[in-house]
This record gives sequence, structure tokens and C-alpha cells, in this order.
Amino acid sequence: MRRSVIAGNWKMNLGFGEAADLVNSLTKLNYNTEQKDVIIAPSFVYLSELGKIAKDSNIKVYAQNFYYEDSGAFTGEVSIEMLKNIGVAGSIVGHSERRMIFHETDEVINKKIKAAVAHKFPVIFCVGETLEQRVAGVHEEVVTAQVGLGLEGISEKDMEIITIAYEPVWAIGTGKTASSDDAESMHKAIRNFLGKKYNKALADNVRILYGGSVKPENISELMAMENIDGALVGGASLKADSFAKIINY
Ligand code: PEP
Repeated sequence: MRRSVIAGNWKMNLGFGEAADLVNSLTKLNYNTEQKDVIIAPSFVYLSELGKIAKDSNIKVYAQNFYYEDSGAFTGEVSIEMLKNIGVAGSIVGHSERRMIFHETDEVINKKIKAAVAHKFPVIFCVGETLEQRVAGVHEEVVTAQVGLGLEGISEKDMEIITIAYEPVWAIGTGKTASSDDAESMHKAIRNFLGKKYNKALADNVRILYGGSVKPENISELMAMENIDGALVGGASLKADSFAKIINY
């Protein structure tokens, strides 16, 4: 039985006071901590303080990104060691905004995943097709290729720290959600790919989240799908009431 995950990606949003209030509200929520992980990924600059607020709760604080080197002349970058030093529990990696705006390639994402493995640092590894790729009918090959390139050189054992998030680019922040059937069929394709690359037992254990305009209104239908294990939520994770409804779908 895979534990479900609801993760909030706050991107470059919220003032510090708003972020602190939001974490405070989330720490008071009742949810089934045996069956569900709740993760927030605030801005780097808030991680330390928000981690202190979340400390005695089950809420895990993740980064949105990191660099693959441990230290050195990499102006503006943050290493896994630094994040671990302040108690950060993991990170998102390969988000489509990193890929598209900051030109992160599959090769760079693979280096980041290898660094995460070396540091036993859990990651939510994001993949997803553009609208053009879906219209052209190549979405499954594009997404499974992203999964394969990101996981190049990653062993079965290393996969323990990896959660995958399928996030169709056309659904992120647009209000358009993939239908639960389309999302399910991509999750199944990813699981089949992992089954071939590794084995069925591993494929059955890997958690695959859906992301792209998840809201209180559509979370239950998505979560009812056999291969959808949780959600990576952007906009709707920025307000306590909508994020709480998603957590308690
Ligand atoms: C995201 O950025 O990961 C995301 C899914 O955003 P939204 O929920 O706003 O579409």
C-alpha cells in the first residue's frame, strides 16, 4: 500500500508573515498521518524559520530546488548540505518552470537526482509534456523519456528517495486539469516504464503524484484513480482553507 502525499509548491509567493500564518494553520490540521504525508515547499529564504514552526508537527518542509555540487564558486546556488544543515527534509527537482524558464536540461536534473541519492535526500522529481506534445500525441514518449533521462544511473536501491510528479505543463497554473482518466493513463505508463527499467515490485512501490491545477473540487476524483498517489499543488496550496480541503479530500 503506497502512502499518499499532498505537497504544496509555494513557488515565489507569499510574504513571510503570510507564509508563517499558513504553516501555523496547517500544523493544527487533523489528517491521517499514518496514511498521508503533507509537504510544503516554500521559498529558500523562509525554510529555516518555517521549519521551526512546523517542527513539532507532521508537516515536512521541502525546498523547491537545489544545486548538485556540495560547495564552491556557484553564486546564487544552494546545496543539499546547506539545506540539510537547517533541517530541510527534501526538495522538488526538475519542475517545468525550472526546465522552461531556467533552462534546466534532463542532464542537469539527472545530476541533481544523483546528488540527492548521494545525500539520501528525498526528492519529488517532476516530468510533464507541453500542450503541443499532447496534441501531437507524443505525450507518453516525451514523459517516459524524461523519466528515463532523469533516472539514468539510478539503481533500484536509490529509488527509495524518489517520488515522481506527473505535471502536464499545459495544466500548471492554467485552471485546466488533466481529466482523471488522462492522468491515470500517464501514471500507468510511467509505472510500466519503471517496471521495465527496474522491476514490477519497484514500480508498484514508487509514489506518483499528479500536478496541474489541483483544487478542492477535483482532488477526490484524481485520488480515486488506482495509480495516482497524491498531488503536487501550486495555487491552491497558498490558502489555508483550500489546501486543508485538498489534504482532507
Ligand atoms: C505546480 O506548480 O507544481 C502546480 C501544479 O501548480 P498549480 O497547482 O497552480 O497548477
